[in-house]
Amino acid sequence: MQTYDCIVVGAGIEGSSTAYNLVKNGQDTLLLEQFPLPHSRGSSHGQSRITRMAYGGDDYYTEMMIEAYKLWEELENESGTTLYKKTGLLAVGKTGSDLIDGTMQSLRKYSIPYTELDGRTLRLKYPMLDYPEDFVGVEDHSGGVLFADKSLAAFQSEFVKHGGILHDNEPMIDVYPGDIVTVKTNKGSYRGRNLVLTVGPWATKVLPSLGVHLPLKTLRISVLYWKEKTPGIYGAETFPIFLEDYAIGEYDIYGLPSLEYPGLYKMCLHSGPEIDPDRRDDADSTWVIDNVKQFVAKHFPCLEQHPAIIETCIYTNTPDHDFVLDRHRDWKNIVIGAGFSGHGFKLSPVVGKVLSELVMQKTPSYQLSHFRIDRFNK
Ligand SMILES: Cc1cc2nc3c(=O)[nH]c(=O)nc-3n(C[C@H](O)[C@H](O)[C@H](O)COP(=O)(O)OP(=O)(O)OC[C@H]3O[C@@H](n4cnc5c(N)ncnc54)[C@H](O)[C@@H]3O)c2cc1C
Repeated sequence: MQTYDCIVVGAGIEGSSTAYNLVKNGQDTLLLEQFPLPHSRGSSHGQSRITRMAYGGDDYYTEMMIEAYKLWEELENESGTTLYKKTGLLAVGKTGSDLIDGTMQSLRKYSIPYTELDGRTLRLKYPMLDYPEDFVGVEDHSGGVLFADKSLAAFQSEFVKHGGILHDNEPMIDVYPGDIVTVKTNKGSYRGRNLVLTVGPWATKVLPSLGVHLPLKTLRISVLYWKEKTPGIYGAETFPIFLEDYAIGEYDIYGLPSLEYPGLYKMCLHSGPEIDPDRRDDADSTWVIDNVKQFVAKHFPCLEQHPAIIETCIYTNTPDHDFVLDRHRDWKNIVIGAGFSGHGFKLSPVVGKVLSELVMQKTPSYQLSHFRIDRFNK
């Protein structure tokens, strides 16, 4: 039986990027996915994701984002596919809010172009928003939209083009650690010198069998599209990505310009009910939709007040919202990427690079202390 250099389990954006990085470094790699591809049951499907440089006070993410932008561009060139549209990003909040202060601090520190908007200018520049004058804005000119499904497909097709083996519709059902790891699926057994587990929301089910108990919460996220009263008023040519923290009580709201479905603006709550990923659609999301309706009615006067389309996706959150990028405590040839906490898409090219470095026993390109598993024991 062939022994792969690495088996990657989970072909979401993080596993696909890792597999792509491994194969580009000459590693014989098998990528396994439980569902037929493409699928919409995990966290990486859909048309769009937000990308931006500024990351509040968390400079370690901004530093990774600087490289992520370059790596996205490389993937665009290699695959001959447009994956990114620059729209800019508008953060809105009261003067001194965490989002406004954190965004400006980070943009200033890394010399990323931005524009500060006082209350009056915010109202003049964005008449399609309705905010009182004590709300201000910051425009992060690096912000934009990543085309999610296209990005996922690009990683997977480049992986295969470079000689990687991709099996979909083949769940891992058991794993036997050791110097050579054996992975059992519904169709057979495979041997690998290394194993990467990037199983998204299923980390809560897969990792405990290896003695790894992460404090993860899986949340059902309602992806809501709202009809513009005047088509294109919140379109990508004129209206940026939108963010407001603590927009409704403790919840943040984010919006993406009408782009993928013409005339429909995407606006979501950055939270949702806790779920079992295998029973995602059992949860009641009425409170989520009601909260966003209330927000739309208050601040987006040019949108209809009922969602026109509702799609569903899953967040896998850690308590501190930092990712897990680490090796297994006992089996160093098992690498874990998990807990991407609703912000892992934009960083996936760097995540894949770092996880592949852990597999290849190279010094990781970034300091990984924020991402260690043992931080949860402290
Ligand atoms: C609505 C929504 C909006 C988001 N917006 C943004 C954003 O604007 N910007 C941003 O940066 N991030 C965003 N994110 C977060 C980002 O999309 C996720 O962090 C990222 O997709 C996580 O990818 P993943 O590979 O870890 O998980 P997944 O995509 O879920 O991939 C895991 C894969 O593993 C497979 N798998 C599981 N168990 C097994 C098994 N036993 N055998 C084989 N395969 C298995 C699953 O089927 C799945 O395909 C958003 C997420 C959601 C849900």
